[in-house]
Amino acid sequence: AWARVKRRLRAELGEDVFASWFARLELEAVAGGTARLTVPTRFLKSWIESHYLDRVLNTFKAEVEEIARIEVGVRGTGAPVRPVAVGASKPSPASGPLARLHAAGAPVPVAAIASVPAESRGAEAGGDLSGTPLDARLTFASFVIGRSNALAHAAAERVAAHQGEGALYNPLYLHAGVGLGKTHLLHGIGHAAREAGRRVIYLTADRFMYGFVNALKTQSALAYKERLRGIDLLILDDVQFIQGKSIQAEFGHTINALIDAGRQVVVASDRPPTELEALDERVRSRLGGGLVVEITALDEALRVSILSARLATVRASHPGFDVSPQVATYVARAITANGRDLEGAVNRLLAHATLTGTAVTMETAESAIRDLVKNREPKRIKIEDIQKLVASRYNVSRSDILSERRTAAVVKPRQIAMYLSKVLTLRSLPEIGRRFGGRDHTTVLHAVRKIEKQIGEDSVLGDEVELLKRMLQD
Ligand code: ADP
Ligand code: MG
Repeated sequence: AWARVKRRLRAELGEDVFASWFARLELEAVAGGTARLTVPTRFLKSWIESHYLDRVLNTFKAEVEEIARIEVGVRGTGAPVRPVAVGASKPSPASGPLARLHAAGAPVPVAAIASVPAESRGAEAGGDLSGTPLDARLTFASFVIGRSNALAHAAAERVAAHQGEGALYNPLYLHAGVGLGKTHLLHGIGHAAREAGRRVIYLTADRFMYGFVNALKTQSALAYKERLRGIDLLILDDVQFIQGKSIQAEFGHTINALIDAGRQVVVASDRPPTELEALDERVRSRLGGGLVVEITALDEALRVSILSARLATVRASHPGFDVSPQVATYVARAITANGRDLEGAVNRLLAHATLTGTAVTMETAESAIRDLVKNREPKRIKIEDIQKLVASRYNVSRSDILSERRTAAVVKPRQIAMYLSKVLTLRSLPEIGRRFGGRDHTTVLHAVRKIEKQIGEDSVLGDEVELLKRMLQD
C-alpha cells in the first residue's frame, strides 16, 4: 500500500516536486490509525509538515481508509515526533495545515497544536543567519578556468572585487548542470569578498527556507528579514529548490530590497531563471534582470586540467601516488559528466593504489571508475578516424601515414594505426592495406604482429595504444 501511496503522490504532485520532497519519505509504522513516516532531515520534516501534510494524509486515506493521522519523524535521531503547526503565512494554528486537517474531521493530538518544540528555538530564533559555512578548499585559486566556465569565473571575480559596480551584474545568476562548479564559484566569491572586509552570507536554498520557516515559527520573520538585508553580499545556492507561496514571496522581497539598496546578490541554479517554474513570474524576471551566465559541460581540456590539479593536490600528501599521463587522460575522457565525478575518480584511484600498494595502470583505473563511466553504445570506428587520431597524437599528418615515407617518425604511427584498424574494425588485411595507400596485406600483417609484440614488452607503448583505443571507442 505504501508503494501505491508514493506512486499516487508522484502522479499528483509531478516528478519535480516529488523528487524534491518525497523521494526520501519512508513509512516506518502504522498503529492505531496513525501512519508514522520518516525523512532524513529536520528540514524535510518541517517542510512536509508545513506544506504537504494534508495532501499526504488524503492520499494515504485513499489507499488505507483507517489512517486518520500522519506523523513525520526524522530518521536516525531518537527525537520525539511532534507534528508542528507551521502555517505558510502565519504561525497561528488556525491557519496551519493541522487546522485544515482538523477541519477535515481528523482528530488532532493536543500536543500537535501546542506549538514549537522548545529545543528548536534558541539558535534558530530570529533565523540563523550565520549562513552555511564556506568550504576552505573552494576558492578562486583552486578553480580551474576553461572555455566552459571562463565567463562565469570572470563575472564571479568582478562581483567579489567591486561592490555596486552598477546594476549590470546584479544579481549575478549562474546556472549549470550538477557538478560543473557553481558551488565552487559561489564559495570563491564568498571567500574573496570576506577577505575584502564585506559582510557576506552564503545560504543554500534549503538553509534559506529553513531559516525562514523557523523565523515564522518563532514569530521573528521580521528580524530575519532585517538581518538578511543588513549585509553587503547575499549568495544563494540552488535557488531552484525555493518554493512555497510565502517563502518565495519573502525571497523575492529580500532580493529586491538588497538590489535596490545597491547590495550584491549572487545566485546559482541548475536551470535558467525563465525555467524556475516554482517561482512567481516577477521573482523570475528580477533574477534574470542582471547578468545570467551559464557554465556549459566541461570540455575535455578542462577535465584534464581539473583532474591534474586534483591529482597534484592529492600527491602532495601521498608522495607514492603516481598516475601516468595516459591514465589521467583516460580518466578525464571517460568521465564526461562533471567535476564531482572527477573528484570521485581520483579518490578511487588513490584508494586502489593505497590498498593494493601497486601503481595505477590503465586496467586498474578502468575497473576503479567503471561505475562512474556512462554506458555508451559501442561505436563503429572508421579507418580514416584511426589514421587522423594517430597522426595527430604523433604530430604527423594523415598523408604522411598514407605515404611511402619510411622514416621512423612516420613508420611507428603508421604501424600503430594499422594495428588499431585490425583490432577495432572488421576490415580484412587486404582491405586495410588498400586504405593505407595501397599497401600489400603482408605489410599490414607485419605491422600488426610487430605492435602486438612491442606492447607486450613496453608498457608505456601499451598504455599509449590502450589510450588511443579508448579515444576511438568513445
Ligand atoms: P555544482 O555546484 O555546479 O553542482 P560543484 O561546485 O559542487 O558543482 O563542483 C563539483 C566538484 O567539482 C567540486 O569538488 C569542485 O571543486 C569541482 N570542480 C568543478 N569545476 C571545477 C573547476 N573549474 N576547477 C576546479 N574544480 C572544479
Ligand atoms: Mg552545487
